[in-house]
Amino acid sequence: MEGLLKIAIQTKGRLNEDSLKLIDEAGIKLPLSSRKLISTASNFPMEALFLRDDDIPQAVAMGAKRLGFSKCRLSLAIPKDHEYTGIEYFNGKKIATSYPEILKDYFRTNNITAEIHVINGSVEIAPGIGLADAIFDIVSSGSTLVSNRLKEVEVVVKSEAVLVANPNLSEAKKAILDELIFRMESVQRAEKKKYILLNAPNDKLAEIESYLPGMKSPTVMPLAEEGWSSVHSVIEEKDFWEIIGKLKAAGAQGILVIPIEKMIL
Ligand code: AMP
Repeated sequence: MEGLLKIAIQTKGRLNEDSLKLIDEAGIKLPLSSRKLISTASNFPMEALFLRDDDIPQAVAMGAKRLGFSKCRLSLAIPKDHEYTGIEYFNGKKIATSYPEILKDYFRTNNITAEIHVINGSVEIAPGIGLADAIFDIVSSGSTLVSNRLKEVEVVVKSEAVLVANPNLSEAKKAILDELIFRMESVQRAEKKKYILLNAPNDKLAEIESYLPGMKSPTVMPLAEEGWSSVHSVIEEKDFWEIIGKLKAAGAQGILVIPIEKMIL
């Protein structure tokens, strides 16, 4: 259908699940069946095309919004017990990778002459079986490297999931895209925050409020019990434990922390 915003999503793989979750949390209902290649949302002017990774770049042009999930990096890794002396280490070495062009570029820029050995998949086992001296591969948590007795020594590219849009969208489709991005941002903003409720003795309110700036300022309501108030606010997940410690020390009681589903500023 002509007026629908078309969005390409990985058919299967790491990005598929998190992308569909984000779309679902943005309130967009995509009827899914494992065999369908196209799915039209029932409550949003959007159609999802499920494509193989390799076909996605051709389906869109430039213009990307970072989505913050599926973060990974393309790194050089060497056997764990080898001493790493710097990038010159790779001179004359044989490196296994599925990404030869990026590695060639990187070595050219750094004046390194190495032998690049292309393998598709299970690259990390290459040094262990004597196929290569080092590898250039995707690293996320680093546990695959550890289990293959390798260590990461150079990060060459950092990557994450992105939403890529065609810059030549019609005005109508641009409006749908803006609404989609607005919804995704509201979901993602909420994921980093928590709603906090606690009881505070009135004589400690000023101190407790200073730890809880909230979106504007905290909500403070009197409790039925004389001398106590209920304080509600929003805190950053990353500051969570530090703030909880300060609140407890200041005499806060009955602290409840609740996930926030969406956050509209
Ligand atoms: P990890 O053990 O978490 O470092 O994951 C490493 C392996 O998982 C790599 O060899 C990749 O094949 C795969 N991997 C991890 N993250 C991603 C990602 N974001 N995109 C594609 N493959 C990934």
